[in-house]
Amino acid sequence: MPSARVAVVKCDTYDAPAVEEAVTRGLALLGGAAEFVRPGERIVLKPNLLVASGADKAVTTHPAVFSAVTRELAAAGAELSWGDSPGFGTTLGVGRKAGIAQAAEALGIPAADFEHGRVMSFPDGQLIKQFTIAEGVAAADGLVSLPKLKTHALTRMTGAVKNQFGCIPGLLKNEFHSRMPDIEHFSQMLVDLNRLIMPRLAVMDAIVAMQGNGPRNGDPRHVGVLLLSDDVVALDALGCRIMALDPTLVDTVVYGERWGLGSATDIELLGDELPVFEDYVVNRSRASTTGGRMSSPTVKRLVTPRPFIVAERCTKCGTCVEVCPVEPKAVDWPGGDRSVPPAYDYERCIRCYCCQEMCPERAIEVKVPVLGRIIRR
Ligand code: SF4
Ligand code: SF4
Repeated sequence: MPSARVAVVKCDTYDAPAVEEAVTRGLALLGGAAEFVRPGERIVLKPNLLVASGADKAVTTHPAVFSAVTRELAAAGAELSWGDSPGFGTTLGVGRKAGIAQAAEALGIPAADFEHGRVMSFPDGQLIKQFTIAEGVAAADGLVSLPKLKTHALTRMTGAVKNQFGCIPGLLKNEFHSRMPDIEHFSQMLVDLNRLIMPRLAVMDAIVAMQGNGPRNGDPRHVGVLLLSDDVVALDALGCRIMALDPTLVDTVVYGERWGLGSATDIELLGDELPVFEDYVVNRSRASTTGGRMSSPTVKRLVTPRPFIVAERCTKCGTCVEVCPVEPKAVDWPGGDRSVPPAYDYERCIRCYCCQEMCPERAIEVKVPVLGRIIRR
C-alpha cells in the first residue's frame, strides 16, 4: 500500500462552477470531505496570503478555490474560520486584496485570530520543542491548508509545507529567519511546525501557479490542476515534479519524509495525469543561504546567492528595510538618505530573501556570485 494518496484534478479555469466540480471530484477520489472533518469540529482554513496582491497575480490562493473547499467542508458539518499571518500587512487587508475576505464574508465564515499567539510545547520536535502559534489555529480542532504552488528564492519551491509558516503570528516569523539563517535548519523548523499542526487536508492551487522570481514577483504560469491530499510532503514532491525540479533539492520535502511527516517517494496518484513542465522557470541548483557548513562570512559573501536592487524599478517605499530581520539592518538607506534606493551590507545579510519576497515593485532579484556559479557546476 502506498503511504500517500494524492488526487490530481484537471481544472483550467477559476470559474466558480468548474472549480467547485474539481474540488468535489478531488475530495470524492479521497473518500469525501467526511474523511477529513467531522460535524461540529472547528476547522481553520489557511490560504496563502503572503502579501496584498490581486488574485490574478498568482501570489495568493485564488478565492474560487477557497470558496469551493469551504462549501464542501461546511456541507460536511465543520464550523469554519479562516486566516493567515501575512509577511507584510494585516490579515484582513491582504485577504481583501486577494478576494479571500469577500469570499469568506459571502459564505458567512468568520476570520480567526492570527494576530495573537499561544505558546505550544512540542516535545516530539526534532529541532524545535516549542512554537508560538496563532490563537486561531491553536483554538481550532484542525487546519485545512490551501497552498499556492510557487517558486521561492530560499526553498526553490513553496507549497503545502511552507504554507503553515503563516500560522506563526506577525514578527515572530522574522525571528525564525534570524535564528535559522541556513536553509537546512529553516526547513527542519517548517517540518516540525507541520508535525505539530498536522493539517487534516491540503488543497494546492496549481490552476495558475507561479514561476521565476517567486514567491511574490514571479510570473503566473498556467498549470491547470488542483492537488488534494492529507500528506503535505507528497503534495510538495508532486509540486516539484510539475516544475521538473528534483525534490531532493527541497529540504522541506527531504526532512518531511525523513522525519515522518509524509511521503515523497511512495505516492498513489488518483484522478488525472500529473502535468510536467520541463521548461518551468525555477532555480534547479542546490539551495544555499549561509553556505551550509562553509559558513564563514567570507565564504558566504563569495558563494551564496545575494539579493540586489534594480534601481530603475525601486520606488523607495522602504518595505525591504522594514522586513529585514537582521539588526542592524542588512539592507538600509545609505547614510539615512531616502532619496536613493536602499543598499545592502552583504556581510550582515543572512540571505533569508525576505526583502526579495516582500518588495512590491519586483525591484529585488537574486543572483549567484561568480564563485558560487563555479562551485555549483
Ligand atoms: S521594497 Fe523594493 S521598491 Fe521598496 S525600497 Fe525596497 S527595493 Fe525599493
Ligand atoms: S537584506 Fe534581505 S536577504 Fe539579507 S537579511 Fe535582510 S531581508 Fe534577508
